Amino acid sequence: MSFENGIIDLRSDTVTHPTQAMRAAMANARVGDDVFGDDMTVIELEEYAADLLGYEASLFVASGTMGNLVALLTHCERGSEAIVGNRSHVFLHEVGGMAALGGIQANKIPNRPDGTLRLEDVMEAIREDDVHHPRTRLICLENTQNACGGVPLTPEYMSRMSDLAHSRGLKLHLDGARLGNAAVAQGVSLKALTKGADSTMICLSKGLCAPIGSLLAGSRKFIAEARRNRKLVGGGMRQVGVLAATGLLALKTMIERLAEDHANARRLAEGLRGIPGIELETPAPQTNMVYFRFAQSGKLDAAEIVEQMRKRGILADVRLVTHRWISSEDVDKVVVAFREVMKA
Ligand SMILES: *Cc1c(COP(=O)(O)O)cnc(C)c1O
Repeated sequence: MSFENGIIDLRSDTVTHPTQAMRAAMANARVGDDVFGDDMTVIELEEYAADLLGYEASLFVASGTMGNLVALLTHCERGSEAIVGNRSHVFLHEVGGMAALGGIQANKIPNRPDGTLRLEDVMEAIREDDVHHPRTRLICLENTQNACGGVPLTPEYMSRMSDLAHSRGLKLHLDGARLGNAAVAQGVSLKALTKGADSTMICLSKGLCAPIGSLLAGSRKFIAEARRNRKLVGGGMRQVGVLAATGLLALKTMIERLAEDHANARRLAEGLRGIPGIELETPAPQTNMVYFRFAQSGKLDAAEIVEQMRKRGILADVRLVTHRWISSEDVDKVVVAFREVMKA
């Protein structure tokens, strides 16, 4: 399945369009004012997501960034500290929101190539009770860990980290923007990956094809407070059942099919392997991302290669992401195009 205009867009899985079924569901959705708690479709989505992720409650938010921010605001008071990975989205790509809007300090520790944080590093980063120190409140993990090649963290690792957090009186937040990919890649349930995390954020608008939206899940008490913080950051929405309807389809019908994207990412990596000038950073992708480098020796620089690919109707970068609108035939076309461009 490709886009109608024939463009092969591998820049991200955020480029996915809503499916026909989603468009029909939008047209027919029951709606109400969600700030008053009146939108039945939003309520259905929040209940469905809470159950799917193994929590008491969940909250529909505009974006993953908003979901993570609201989680941080809810777990951490001003002047406190959150332990995050140096390759994590919440540290790298969320505009410093925790500091700018929450007065929360990030204590960053290295992500290993497999996406994990070492437990020893986390233990060392937890602050002593000392009048000089900020108070550590939270540990954040990301699954899949995007900037480490879309690698999934295992249920065993998740539970070791939650045991550590809870034994030290801390909370654990999971940035599960692509939790569906992590679950499908390992053949486990979403719940198996959220067990022990005090809150989880999942995105509907990436590989799951909804046009917008994420969910933040946690205990009933946590979500009640998160709802206030969502309002605080301007995220209270009105007749948003038109979007929640697409979210329900995203969660009910789009998770299992992520396996196709993973197969296409492996096919892409195999195709690119051996093309002179391309050095794969993820030779064996576990989910839907293929990272690579252009070797310095080539005549064209990276920007020129990207431009040459664009002229062939392929939008690419040094990260290639497969999704619902990329078919295996598209993957083969991309490999042929790269081979031609790299020959130059
Ligand atoms: C995309 C992403 C987010 C943020 O989602 P937006 O909807 O783009 O704000 C958070 N975490 C990870 C790992 C992501 O990939």
